[in-house]
Amino acid sequence: MRLSSDYYVIRCTKKGCGKFSYCKAKQKTKMCPYCEYRITVEKASKTEVNSVIHARKLVQEFNKKLGEMTEPWWYKSDN
Ligand SMILES: [Zn+2]
Repeated sequence: MRLSSDYYVIRCTKKGCGKFSYCKAKQKTKMCPYCEYRITVEKASKTEVNSVIHARKLVQEFNKKLGEMTEPWWYKSDN
C-alpha cells in the first residue's frame, strides 16, 4: 500500500492534444478535459503530487508552457 501521493498530473496521450490534467492516483482512467479522450493513467506520463492544490498549480503551469511553444515536438497532425 502506497501512501506517498494522492494525485497524478498526467498528460493526454492522444495525438495532437498532449494537454495536462490531474486525477486521483487510484483512478484507472481519466477523461481529458480538452479532447475528451479517455487516458489510461498507467500508460500516460505522470507526475506524482500530494495535494489537489499542487496538482492544479502544476497543470496550469504545464499547459501555459505548452501554449508558449509554437511547434511542440509532440504535435504531429495526420491531416
Ligand atoms: Zn486530450
